[in-house]
Amino acid sequence: MSDHPPCPQCGGTGWKPVERDGARRVVRCECWRTNVADRLMAEARIPKRYQHCALDNFLVYPNEPLMKAVGKARAFAEAFPVVEKGLFFIGPPGIGKSHLATSVLRQAIETRGARGLFYDVRELLRLIRSTFSDGAALGEMEILRPVMEADLLVLDDLGAEKSSEWVGETLNLVVNTRYNENRPTIFTSNFEVKEDDTDIDSLQARVGFRMYSRLHEMCEFLEFDGADYRYCPPNTGPNELLSAWKNQRRPKLPTRSGGPMRAQLKGKTDLKWSGGKAGN
Ligand SMILES: [Zn+2]
Repeated sequence: MSDHPPCPQCGGTGWKPVERDGARRVVRCECWRTNVADRLMAEARIPKRYQHCALDNFLVYPNEPLMKAVGKARAFAEAFPVVEKGLFFIGPPGIGKSHLATSVLRQAIETRGARGLFYDVRELLRLIRSTFSDGAALGEMEILRPVMEADLLVLDDLGAEKSSEWVGETLNLVVNTRYNENRPTIFTSNFEVKEDDTDIDSLQARVGFRMYSRLHEMCEFLEFDGADYRYCPPNTGPNELLSAWKNQRRPKLPTRSGGPMRAQLKGKTDLKWSGGKAGN
């Protein structure tokens, strides 16, 4: 702030005079908003690859569940902080879940001055774990408190973490605290909700049933499938995205009966997502 010449609008005070209906009053100057937003953005830990993300540069194409997710993201961002529930974007990698989550976070920071925070779940757990070692610079609560207290939190890639009792307790603490304090959270996950909740690749099994039911109480679930943006050239248009999505659809993989086949495909995310939801 101090390196720049004072703002010509307000002389650096952050307040500028305006005249409305013949009365003079002062309002917040744009420069103040920008400075606050810049600082909040810098503190939000949004990874570089997502820093350009905005709802306006999210490419949509005729894909109803995807358009619904974008619409809900937009409505949430516009209503924030007056929102009842968070959002949960669910679907295969590359379809834009993190882009949507980050766009909403950015908008809340830039237009509402929200204290926002972005964490990849595994990175968060790794950081907390690092506080347990001797001579660690930070204590566990120094990582956790901002996560629990952020006005808006994005927890990216839920379910990808290796589960353990400690992981479950830590994530439940974060999620329950935010739930009890009415602080919205946006989650993303590559693991879909499955009818068979004993399937180890179901979201229910990945996060545990207690967490799963809490997530339902605190978020709107938005499941979608779509073209993998990571494999699309920069100027891809809606038609190309639509055909990329259609061409990557595959018949639904067998579930119970197809054990060996599922095992073979495990880890190949492009195949694992069978497009099974696409026909619905
Ligand atoms: Zn100014």
